[in-house]
Amino acid sequence: MLKGKKVLITGGSRGIGAGIVRKAMQAGAEVAFTYFRSADEAHELAVELSEQYPDQRCFALECDSADGLALETTIKQVITEFGVVDGLVNNAGITRDVVLARMSREQWDSVINTNLGSMFNSTKPLILQMVKQHGGAIVNISSVAALYGNSGQTNYSAAKAGIIGFSKSLSAEVAAQNIRVNVVAPGYIKTDMLGILDEDTLNYIKSRISLRRLGVVEDIAPLVCFLLSDGASYITGQVFQVDGGITL
Ligand code: NAP
Repeated sequence: MLKGKKVLITGGSRGIGAGIVRKAMQAGAEVAFTYFRSADEAHELAVELSEQYPDQRCFALECDSADGLALETTIKQVITEFGVVDGLVNNAGITRDVVLARMSREQWDSVINTNLGSMFNSTKPLILQMVKQHGGAIVNISSVAALYGNSGQTNYSAAKAGIIGFSKSLSAEVAAQNIRVNVVAPGYIKTDMLGILDEDTLNYIKSRISLRRLGVVEDIAPLVCFLLSDGASYITGQVFQVDGGITL
């Protein structure tokens, strides 16, 4: 599905991002991915996949998505290595959950900068490259929290809703250059990000999901890879919920 495509994925060291890295490699892409804190996991993943797919490059680059200059430099490195970048997945994200009344400025800023500021940081330098190439596909990872809201997540919901507005506007700006921009909005997916939730809360959440289970990384990665592929060449500006039929 992605044979010969060159793809950059932010936050590929763990969780959903690592699942997308794996699936994209399996689909024939060459993949560069970023990490911030999890250097060991990132390098182990890159080595494992390079051995499994010796004809495809797979490499990890340390870069804080909230740091615009750092991401611009990283993107230049990826363009130099690959020559072109056909696909970008903006996946890096964090939560700092707390009700607004107790939220610190740091908890607000870090979530907005890492989840939403990162969209500007990565997409701005890469969009010029995609315009030059006259083609590309961008998939941005939002959340159902953007669509329904979630108590304790005003910062996160605001950032994830911002991603949807950003993506729809950008899709209109660059469609004439054959660049597509779509959003995947996961529900509750079993990753480290859910580690802060206790068993009772998880059981309550499951009871609100039509399919009565949490999602797994493998529920998200195939859709992201499809949206990067030529099979999705008439799809842009859309938001895809992958949430098991959640009703918040
Ligand atoms: P996760 O397991 O906590 O992984 C987060 C990933 O983002 C890690 O690879 C992490 O890299 C990277 N990251 C965090 N801060 C970064 C930064 N400043 N710069 C670069 N990379 C950074 O979370 P996840 O569940 O896989 O989440 C992935 C995406 O899906 C996020 O955007 C999240 O908001 C979204 N999402 C998740 C769920 C869910 O239920 N899990 C639901 C809806 C949406 P390092 O460890 O190397 O720092």
